[in-house]
Amino acid sequence: MSPKTMFINGEWVAAASGQTRTIINPFNQETVAEVPEGDETDTQSAIEAARKAFDEGTWPHTPAAERGKFVLKIAELIERDKQELAELETLDTGKTLTESLEDMSDIAEVFRYYGGLADKDGGEVIESPIPASNSKVVREPVGVCGQITPWNYPLLQAAWKIAPALAAGNTIIVKPSEITPLTTIKVTELMEEAGIPAGVVNLILGAGPKTGQLLAESHAVDLISFTGGVETGRKIMTAAAGNFKKIALELGGKNPNVVFGDADFDTAVDQALNAVFFHAGQVCSAGARLIVQDTIHDAFVQALVERTKKIKLGNGFDESTQSGPLISKEHREKVENYVEIGLEEGANLLIGGKRPEADELQDGFFFEPTIFADCDTSMRIVQEETFGPLLTIERFNTEEEAVHLANDSKYGLAGAVWTTDIRKAERVSGKLRMGTVWINDFHPYFAQAPWGGYKSSGIGRELGKQGLEEYTEVKHVFENTAPEPINWF
Ligand code: NAD
Repeated sequence: MSPKTMFINGEWVAAASGQTRTIINPFNQETVAEVPEGDETDTQSAIEAARKAFDEGTWPHTPAAERGKFVLKIAELIERDKQELAELETLDTGKTLTESLEDMSDIAEVFRYYGGLADKDGGEVIESPIPASNSKVVREPVGVCGQITPWNYPLLQAAWKIAPALAAGNTIIVKPSEITPLTTIKVTELMEEAGIPAGVVNLILGAGPKTGQLLAESHAVDLISFTGGVETGRKIMTAAAGNFKKIALELGGKNPNVVFGDADFDTAVDQALNAVFFHAGQVCSAGARLIVQDTIHDAFVQALVERTKKIKLGNGFDESTQSGPLISKEHREKVENYVEIGLEEGANLLIGGKRPEADELQDGFFFEPTIFADCDTSMRIVQEETFGPLLTIERFNTEEEAVHLANDSKYGLAGAVWTTDIRKAERVSGKLRMGTVWINDFHPYFAQAPWGGYKSSGIGRELGKQGLEEYTEVKHVFENTAPEPINWF
């Protein structure tokens, strides 16, 4: 594997300090790559490069159709190198190769979508109330954008930010999670191959407090887009207040999956497993809170436990693997701590709650799929994001109670309702306080529909046309076609 470095002002560079970080495979802790460990000095250079490219460069003034073509070209290159990108993602995160390949298809689609959208909103002429005047509203790029991403969907989260930002004419500084930078590095190589002008795309690697924090604080940055945890989000929002930069925050979730007694039982069981255990639960929209009607509660829980026993953990490169490891030693300890908390809180541990015993899983950060029943909303395991393979089950009687339980959370990212009564589905979905509600499904998202959270799950939207609008400023241009003195003074 060639040495991977940062990309600043069109050059591949090591960290100014010379520091590096070892990237490991969470399946076996083997070294996957050595990458530079950037800090404030490197971040400052990237900010200056992006500032200059925006203020003096051609990119913001390149016709939107041309920028769109560039973004479409990236989609093509991602399709071309999909296998390599997917393998890097699996090495870096431990997720299955099948999942990584699906991610790459979705990522190419995001670039295609924004490439196509780039020249579709050319502004509008408005009817001015003032005689002898013209008035138009135009969209312009925001400027220099800092983009900070997490480790669970490294390239997917980066794509949701990079594609619309470039389509809209901004210059960017991308800061991937320090533990999963490989696919973001590779896509930066692809953007270089496609001919991005120097300084338009910059890549900084390193720990958040030494890199991302400066992106949030710097007055030379006009917008900060962050995906990650709530506590980091709070720091970013506070830092961003310095120059009132625009902010977009995609934070955590503790997402309810509400199953009514009249739901298609087998499908709801199957999808409840997928909702919570997909990618070992390390999904912001994981259905980690199952809320089941008491008429089917016991049978539903029993069916879930039986199916959970059969989940195959293993190497993401092995086709029979259904779920990989957790991302790191620290993250597994966090999930283990939540099991302790659940037990102390009196929840009923039905399965899992520990590391698997199989010899071949001992070098990875594996944790067994875990189910707690008899949970209620006073418990921390119900309220806090564990971000692991940990399901809590609550029970309800009436529709009103189901809605109340589902909304009893500081988060509001996503949720689902399962019922064969479409009127009930519509009533309930209308009352759920979340950015995405699925009816008789869980997890679908796509480039055309906005994604984001209510309440503490964030601010702003990614994807959809709203995801492009986040990266634009709206300007009103008024022209007096017959100027005359006013003679006021
Ligand atoms: P995190 O908040 O620890 O880190 C996210 C990013 O922020 C990393 O790149 C990190 O280096 C950087 N960072 C850390 N401290 C910083 C600081 N002081 N200033 C600026 N940047 C800083 O999150 P994580 O553990 O990488 O990711 C998991 C979290 O991401 C979960 O809470 C999950 O729900 C959330 N997430 C949300 C979505 C969504 O769409 N809402 C999607 C994926 C993940």
